[in-house]
Amino acid sequence: MTQPAADHAPDSTPTTTPESGVYKTLLESTRAIPWKIDWRTMQFAYIGPQIEPLLGWSVDSWLTAEDWATRIHPEDRERVVNFCIGQSKAGVDHEADYRALTPDGNYVWIRDVVHVLRDDKGETEALVGFMFDISERKKTEEALVALQRKLEEFSFKDGLTGVANRRMFDSVLKQEWSQAQRSGQPLSLILVDIDYFKQYNDHYGHVQGDECLKLVASVLSGAAKRPRDLFARFGGEEFIFVLPETPADAAQLIAERCRELILSEQIAHAASQINPLLTISLGVGTVTPTHDDQVVAFLEGVDRQLYQAKQQGRDRIAAGQY
Ligand code: GH3
Ligand code: MG
Ligand code: MG
Repeated sequence: MTQPAADHAPDSTPTTTPESGVYKTLLESTRAIPWKIDWRTMQFAYIGPQIEPLLGWSVDSWLTAEDWATRIHPEDRERVVNFCIGQSKAGVDHEADYRALTPDGNYVWIRDVVHVLRDDKGETEALVGFMFDISERKKTEEALVALQRKLEEFSFKDGLTGVANRRMFDSVLKQEWSQAQRSGQPLSLILVDIDYFKQYNDHYGHVQGDECLKLVASVLSGAAKRPRDLFARFGGEEFIFVLPETPADAAQLIAERCRELILSEQIAHAASQINPLLTISLGVGTVTPTHDDQVVAFLEGVDRQLYQAKQQGRDRIAAGQY
């Protein structure tokens, strides 16, 4: 295939049926950029016209696999090209993240997802794939990596329980709040408070109180599992979850899981007024913040939910949307 880029239709797509127009419209209206490379000639058989608005290179400028390789950031090139060639030779579908060069010398983070087409004999015949613009995701990941580094550098850990401390919570919340304002995704918080913990200390002593806090932190830290979720000690016997991209119902489920996890530990609390076992109360809040919303007001709202849970008898969850 030497000139198929001129017609923008993948050569495996029927070109004479009415559906072919539909395929083409679908392919060229997604935000992902479809492409095809003939494995024997290493030439592009097709690349979606969306490539031009994204990277700035015209469709006609994508002739060979070499054009693709030279437009990869020098720090990513060898790794990506070797990986993709190896996987393609082996006939294995794969994906690779890299920075793609634009004509003005900037870079855009791309995730290339590649499917290997094989002929009757099982030999690699062509590669088809989609390029996704993952710049926004990378920005968040990079910011998160930077924060994780800070956790180590400035000791963002709570000394007693080993979970993230208040300072870490403050910076993650600030970060996720702006991210939620940009993305329009819901952000949830769960504030956890141990019931009658003053009485626990009075009854069992402060040392056992500390041990109890460690156990509660360790049990709860496993309750939210996504990579961006944060669990932190908020202060005293209070803990908090930051749950990005989490709607109210999902946050409520995690809160319920927390309550059950603590109950199933069966920690004796002879001085509790409501249960011979240690219990917790939880305030849950969910918001999709606009640029006018204040994070402090949200946090106060979640605190009010916790207060409600206490007022209504403890060992329960109160939730609200903001
Ligand atoms: P409620 O059910 O209303 O939450 O009652 P409570 O007694 O748990 O609430 P309160 O906020 O009055 O008391 C919290 C207690 O937690 C006070 C303090 O003795 C105890 N506490 C706070 N930090 C620590 C700590 O690091 N170690 C120990 N052992 N106890 C702590
Ligand atoms: Mg408290
Ligand atoms: Mg308490």
